[in-house]
Amino acid sequence: MKMKIFKYNVVLIGCQMNVSDAERIKGILEDMGLVNSNERNEADVVIVTTCGVRQHAEDRIYGIIPRIKKHNPKSIIVLTGCLSKRQDVINRLNKHVDIWLNAKDMANLSQLLFEKLPTLKPQPKNIESLKNYLSLQPKYTSKYSAYVPIGNGCNNWCTYCVVPKARGSEAYRAPEEILNEVRGLIKNNYKEITLIAQNVDSYNFIDESNNSTSFATLLQQVDDLEGEYWLRFSTNHPKDISNDLVQVIKNGKRICPHIHLPVQSGDDEILKAMNRNYTKEEYLRLVDTIRINLDAELPATITTDIIVGYPQESLDQFNNTAQLMREVSFDMVYISQYSPRPNTASYNLNDNVTTEEKKRREDELTEILKTTNSANNRKYIGKNIRVLIIGNKKGYIIARTNTGKNVKIKIDNELNSKQIIGEFANVTIIDAESYKLYGKIIKSQ
Ligand code: SAH
Ligand code: SF4
Repeated sequence: MKMKIFKYNVVLIGCQMNVSDAERIKGILEDMGLVNSNERNEADVVIVTTCGVRQHAEDRIYGIIPRIKKHNPKSIIVLTGCLSKRQDVINRLNKHVDIWLNAKDMANLSQLLFEKLPTLKPQPKNIESLKNYLSLQPKYTSKYSAYVPIGNGCNNWCTYCVVPKARGSEAYRAPEEILNEVRGLIKNNYKEITLIAQNVDSYNFIDESNNSTSFATLLQQVDDLEGEYWLRFSTNHPKDISNDLVQVIKNGKRICPHIHLPVQSGDDEILKAMNRNYTKEEYLRLVDTIRINLDAELPATITTDIIVGYPQESLDQFNNTAQLMREVSFDMVYISQYSPRPNTASYNLNDNVTTEEKKRREDELTEILKTTNSANNRKYIGKNIRVLIIGNKKGYIIARTNTGKNVKIKIDNELNSKQIIGEFANVTIIDAESYKLYGKIIKSQ
């Protein structure tokens, strides 16, 4: 008798940590003999990664999940991510969701699925005994660019944020295990490796002999691994970036000069209310330190996250954020309208900035960003730089600089773009506008 081949499909919502979690889940599923399918309505198992950071992201699953069950009633739905522990979400979706999976319990997934689908291959040996789910073998999405999680969880308790509750307190992976994962990627010709955690700067691993490894040391150890690759890291917390770390980045051989440094607000009272633990001045001093040490022929890229319309944010307080944006001249800003989240400290505060006013503040910041981004990009014109080819679209190759900027390169007859995705190339930047650079490949002699 022919064995049934079980299929799985992933609905990916949320941040880079969810991308990475999904890659570990895929690793488990493929170990059990399931195959990936793009046909959600034919999949035996549908994995939904969820995001609870804003109401908008949360609302998406209330549409998607009932729809999956309607079109594919036999599917087993596994819900993971930041909403997997919220009781009101469980009550609302329990009739559709078969398995509620907190990331930390991921190693139990094979057993849970086996109970629902007994004809599956028995679960692989021993993974239930894993201390940290991040040790699971992932199935990477890309063949040249990979996220390597160095930890999970957050201890910072910013007042607006669901992450500490949803993902639990910080837990870090052993340096040797991280180095081994990166060695494997380098061996397989990966060109871009990004170390990720909710706050990479608070990485601190204490081994059995009580020796501790900081993030600066870990980054240095990864950078010391031989190979032709770029090394990135995200996300940073302004209160935790050390001088040691800035020096490691400065002296690194492969570390990209791009720091994602979420500021959230440029007003001291709002920063205090958010429990961010730094002031506007301290943030600006940190930006200076980064610029003094990391700016080279081109400036280092500094990107950020900002929340507009935090409860009671006055116009003056908002203007302080706008002013900070002009002073720093960010390359990119991910702007969010404040969204009250259940189980957070700010949930019961009066969300008194209207939606229209939040939108207006967001638009004002977007205009500032356009100007600073465009001014920063113009500094690239005429420069010869190395890029990583990441795709092609409508007659152009799309590439990325080590500072994280996209470059469009017109395809001509001599270039077969498919062959070079995932490879480095040298380009001359011939034009620049907001959010985009244009380049020309420098042909090798
Ligand atoms: N660990 C990271 C990011 C966490 S969530 C950090 O500390 O920066 C990603 C971003 O979502 C945050 O930086 C913040 O700008 C935004 N965000 C989080 N909670 C939010 C909320 N309740 N309303 C609006 N934006 C929020
Ligand atoms: Fe959330 Fe703050 Fe932790 Fe970032 S540092 S995950 S914003 S609590």
